[in-house]
Amino acid sequence: MKTTHNDVQTCKLLQAGRWIDAKTADFEPVINPSDGSIIAKTPMCGPREVDETVRAAQTAFETWSEAPIVERARVFFRYRRLLEEHTDELAAIISREHGKTRAEARASVLRGIEVVEFACGIPSLIGGQTMENIARDVDCETLRRPLGVCVGITPFNFPAMVPLWMFPVAIVCGNAFVLKPSEKVPLSANRLGELLVEAGLPDGVFSIVHGGKACVDALLGHDLVRSVSFVGSTPVAKYIYETGTANGKRVQAAGGAKNHIVIMPDADLEQTVAALQNAAFGCAGERCMAGSIAVPVGDIAQPLVDGLCAASSKLRVGRTDGDAQVDMGPLITRAHRDRVREYLDIGRAEGAELVLDGSKVSVEDGPEGFFIGPSVFDRVQPEMRVARDEIFGPVLSVIRVATVDEAIALGHDCPYGNGAAIFTRSGYAARRFKREFNAGMIGINVAVPAPMAWFPFTGQNRSFFGDLHIQGMESVHFYTQQRVTMTRWFEGDGREFHDPIWSDRRG
Ligand code: NAD
Repeated sequence: MKTTHNDVQTCKLLQAGRWIDAKTADFEPVINPSDGSIIAKTPMCGPREVDETVRAAQTAFETWSEAPIVERARVFFRYRRLLEEHTDELAAIISREHGKTRAEARASVLRGIEVVEFACGIPSLIGGQTMENIARDVDCETLRRPLGVCVGITPFNFPAMVPLWMFPVAIVCGNAFVLKPSEKVPLSANRLGELLVEAGLPDGVFSIVHGGKACVDALLGHDLVRSVSFVGSTPVAKYIYETGTANGKRVQAAGGAKNHIVIMPDADLEQTVAALQNAAFGCAGERCMAGSIAVPVGDIAQPLVDGLCAASSKLRVGRTDGDAQVDMGPLITRAHRDRVREYLDIGRAEGAELVLDGSKVSVEDGPEGFFIGPSVFDRVQPEMRVARDEIFGPVLSVIRVATVDEAIALGHDCPYGNGAAIFTRSGYAARRFKREFNAGMIGINVAVPAPMAWFPFTGQNRSFFGDLHIQGMESVHFYTQQRVTMTRWFEGDGREFHDPIWSDRRG
């Protein structure tokens, strides 16, 4: 087990198609959360590295944007094959630097590959609108053209999937892309970059620059950066949106969440317990679409809580950096694990009943790992912090209500608006929920309604700042700008000119 940072590699930057050492001597350790050991170092780059990377990206953009779109897409057909061949390897890297179980890590890579599949189809989607004879002898058309250098700033919790939400679409649309991954999980991003180079992407079209706030600020302030895609916590999303747009950039910024799952009295208990457990404790609760509040309606509450606690207490918590079969891995850092543990004290002090306490979990072969087991608070009140704050760990709060109206009202009091789900056999309740619950992504008997690549990731309220969302057609629109052309051809010389659009002699 490595415990010092002297004998580990510093991650390289990808700039102008070459893997280079950062000039900065400043770095952050990359930690294996299963045992607390240091496995790599992230260079904390600043304006100098950012400027060099963005300039190289701009140079690459000038040629790449002129490449036929089918050629641009073909690189991603090759990339898709490489990602499939390397799925297990990528999953192992993710499990080691992030702490997802191998199955969770694999699933996240597969969801990312779907975005590549979507991007391969962009030649069929990017076309514009045309209208013949919009005025006499005048035709009108729109084209979608790339923006230039686009930037992606990504969170720790999906080290491969969230970067994949962004760059395949941006690049097939004809842009150059600079990725700034989370400093906590740079290794997965670098492996994605190596495979993209192997797929034959020309030098400089995809770049990686590592760092934290200083690096992000340099990107937000750079004149050549045209757009910023951000995924992370709400305060940072708001900051990125405000700063980026003030600097004249197009910005889409997805933030944090607190997602409700409503369980109607007619729901199938067994299926709902299994789905709820997965939604609350999958990826150790470190998902922006995690179900973090269960809202049982009426007398299903007690059997639901009993069933959930019985099933969840059997989950195997353990190391994810080897071959052990576990159901839940560690949290990302010691500080984050301690913060999640603190919420168990906060909830108790507020008067909620801790009916499943994960704080005592022990992992024999990972005493230094950042583990905490699944925890359930019952009889939570909406004003309690465990009901309001994004805990981002395996802690589920149960708010019991009497009617579906009360359940829907909870959404209106929530400042976030990412996902929400209902479990029911009633089409009436489901339809009302779909129309009235205050969230952008709705599940009906689907606990984690994270849309697949062909649909937009439509967080709202404080879960999203911007207009065009990530994924789906909205992402093609985000990464392109429209140009309208009006065309008129004259039959021959010497005919009298008149303006068919502005003249009052129209027609
Ligand atoms: P974070 O906001 O701390 O960091 C995200 C990125 O922003 C990182 O690359 C980080 O280096 C950078 N950053 C951090 N602080 C910054 C600052 N002050 N100024 C500029 N840049 C800064 O988020 P995280 O802890 O890495 O990720 C977890 C959060 O992401 C959770 O809140 C989760 O809900 C959210 N998330 C949201 C979605 C979504 O689609 N809405 C998806 C995944 C994760």
